[in-house]
Amino acid sequence: MSALVPLREQLAALGAYHSLQVAADVRLNSNESPFPPPDAWLRALAEAVGQVDFHRYPDRDATELRAAVAGLHGVLPEEVFCANGSNEVLQCLLVAFGGQGRRALVFEPTYALHAHIAGLTGMEVVSEPRGGDLRVDPGRWRAAIERAEPDVVFLCSPNNPTGRLEDPEIVSAIVDASPGLVVVDEAYGQFSSWSALALRSEGRRRPRDGGGTKGLVVVRTFSKTWAMAGARLGYLVADPEVVAGCRDAALPYHLSVQTQLAGVLALRYVDEMNERVRRVAEARAELAEGLAGLDVETWPSDANFVLFRPRAKDARGVWRTLLAGGVLVRDFSARAGLEGCLRVTVGTPKENGRFLEALAGALR
Ligand code: PMP
Repeated sequence: MSALVPLREQLAALGAYHSLQVAADVRLNSNESPFPPPDAWLRALAEAVGQVDFHRYPDRDATELRAAVAGLHGVLPEEVFCANGSNEVLQCLLVAFGGQGRRALVFEPTYALHAHIAGLTGMEVVSEPRGGDLRVDPGRWRAAIERAEPDVVFLCSPNNPTGRLEDPEIVSAIVDASPGLVVVDEAYGQFSSWSALALRSEGRRRPRDGGGTKGLVVVRTFSKTWAMAGARLGYLVADPEVVAGCRDAALPYHLSVQTQLAGVLALRYVDEMNERVRRVAEARAELAEGLAGLDVETWPSDANFVLFRPRAKDARGVWRTLLAGGVLVRDFSARAGLEGCLRVTVGTPKENGRFLEALAGALR
């Protein structure tokens, strides 16, 4: 037997980052859409897949897909990079622009994969705590950037798992003050009223520092609003140099022909997808109302999930009781800054009802 090579240190903690995949009647732990994609999309995809020459490699540049995404946002195809979910987008970005000897800044608590992927590429990760309202602290971010001189700053808006949109003025000021890339992860962007993409178009109208929008990178996914978590498709919008770097870092033919088709066809159903966002937002309001009547602390959400903290009961115990009752939510109670917190994804009205009923029982 050959000697085992020990696992890389950065990977040892990975288990904790994965959302649990266990059987449960009501799965509200991964921020998926509770509604399936439009039937017409599924039929169009099946038809298109039937015509594919599967003995050939897919289009390496995902030309049609990137043009379709560019059309959606009114940018150039050269400003769009697509990959297998926004996690792979982030991985390519950090393989290209992170790595040994470079530094990333994150505002915790936030999406754990930012620090994790940065660490995997060998970056040093500096964490700055969020303010009392769990948003980036207006009084502290500037000093944090000056201290860390980060190559990459991560923002997440609306932030996972806390749910709040960042203040657009602060995002804009961070882009101006940062020496390197500023990644705004908008996995939940369609659920909120403002997008950092607005800063990119503004920058184009008022070119600064020789033009462009400096290092602003906006990352989006088809997994949430577009109800396509199973398809694995995400993208970023950034300056062409950043896109070119990501393409150099990606493996050849990383994006399968089916994935590219799924994305191109989805963009023909924008109205139906927006209708799903509207229904989720409606269900979110009902869920928030239900939570307000229970003995939990909650935070306002601009996303498709709500963070809450049982006031009088141990959160882990509540999580266990919910699961025993067939309802799976995400347990963040052991995460620094989120002590005692659980996160529930907005489900269908029926699922939310099941959750609220089970929670009321667990809190009794
Ligand atoms: N960013 C954030 C903030 C997320 O919450 C998620 C999904 N949990 C992702 C990125 C990754 O999504 P995907 O890889 O499915 O696009």
